[in-house]
Amino acid sequence: MEILLEKSKEGKRAFKFPEIPDFDIKKYIPEKYLREKDAFLPSVSETEITRHFNALAERNYHVDKGFYPLGSCTMKYNPKINEELARLPGFTNLHPLIPEKLCQGALKLMKELENLLCEISGMDAVSLQPSAGANGELTGMLIVRKYHTEKGNPRKYVLVPDSAHGTNPASVTLSGYIAKTIKSNEKGLISIPDLKKNLNEEVAAIMITNPNTLGLFEVEICEITKLVHEVGALVYLDGANLNAFVGIIKPRDLGFDIVHFNLHKTFSTPHGGGGPGSGPIGVVKQLEKYLPIPRIVFENGEYKFSYDFPHSIGKVHSFYGNFLVMIKAYAYILTLGYDGLRQVACDAILNANYLREKIKDLFENPYRDFPCMHEFVVSGENLKRKYGVRTLDVAKRLLDYGFHAPTIYFPLIVPEALMIEPTETESKETLDAFAETLRKIVKEAEQNPDLLKNAPYNTPVRRLDETLANRNPVPRWKKNMTI
Ligand SMILES: *Cc1c(COP(=O)(O)O)cnc(C)c1O
Repeated sequence: MEILLEKSKEGKRAFKFPEIPDFDIKKYIPEKYLREKDAFLPSVSETEITRHFNALAERNYHVDKGFYPLGSCTMKYNPKINEELARLPGFTNLHPLIPEKLCQGALKLMKELENLLCEISGMDAVSLQPSAGANGELTGMLIVRKYHTEKGNPRKYVLVPDSAHGTNPASVTLSGYIAKTIKSNEKGLISIPDLKKNLNEEVAAIMITNPNTLGLFEVEICEITKLVHEVGALVYLDGANLNAFVGIIKPRDLGFDIVHFNLHKTFSTPHGGGGPGSGPIGVVKQLEKYLPIPRIVFENGEYKFSYDFPHSIGKVHSFYGNFLVMIKAYAYILTLGYDGLRQVACDAILNANYLREKIKDLFENPYRDFPCMHEFVVSGENLKRKYGVRTLDVAKRLLDYGFHAPTIYFPLIVPEALMIEPTETESKETLDAFAETLRKIVKEAEQNPDLLKNAPYNTPVRRLDETLANRNPVPRWKKNMTI
């Protein structure tokens, strides 16, 4: 497919502004800021622009096109009505610097969303400011640091189980702590003996992904949070996967002190949907004073932004966070209500267990002591050993059959991993079709392994050297084009 620059023909325009007589740009912009040459932009007609971007969009894969079982990402269907609501002009035309008096409705929505997230998590206070899960994690770790610093010693380590999400150790490092790995046991859960060995007064916190990246619920979580509290450390929940237990349990009841939510997973914004996300963070009472500013307060019958929190860690995002994502989450939560949210978690768990059962004879299943939560992990070691076919080959072949591939080679503790999250919004028919396709691919691996090793065949591009493409990008345009 041609890139837009290659379609360019001198003189073509989508729209022409009328000439302004005797216009001299230098009167308006100092000469040192002016370009020596005109910017090199594609010259194309409006029809060409429209067709170009439509053609690109058609090549894209998305949840509205088909099944997207990308583990740890919750690529579920999000009701269109919530997009409509976020697009209401009263919301989209708000300027972030508008006086508080003129945006009472927006502030009320934010405050009520905070309250709903408090209710869902059991936490005492929520900040909507962080812009994603990882940003929420960093906010949480900065709160941990401030809490311990004010008590006299910031401490040194944050414990991170080896089944945690990869952003966890990164957030720990960014906040100036040293991440220490806690091992999983043979069931895929946090090893309590290893935790005990590493717990001491130098530990500031533990960050727990629950359900962990194997899709398993940490059944000994209450014991774990108790042990961590005994050394004066805090317990952080990576709650990105809240669709696994929303409406069933509250993180606070399990002993968590801090939790982040991924609105752009659980609450009606697609993850990685090309737009912004939102990763609010909830805390218990004793940590509330450290939350980012400004905070929304309700005083004398009015909602206001308050900066009057002297212990706050400060700001973690420009203005107040990504507001339009909050609208979708708010609408989604109110539409479903308590019972609906609970149903989300029940269906997510049911779908994952159904699919896990359907394909259990196709792959190795290293962690099957417990039912899974919203996702599960299998290993393609059997295909590699028997036919020399790797998990990457299976993932690529799935594309030929019109499915998005699951997450692969993650979590790192499972060799040749396939991490599958069907989500609550898929039908039995879709799950059956996916399972049948995997069955077909495993058969192909047995009969014609080379077929898989060269897949995909039906996609716009075949196999790319992704590392090279990232390290050495070569934008393509005609040789005689100069910028
Ligand atoms: C998605 C995810 C994150 C990171 O969230 P982002 O919004 O992508 O930064 C963290 N932890 C877990 C368990 C996740 O699934």
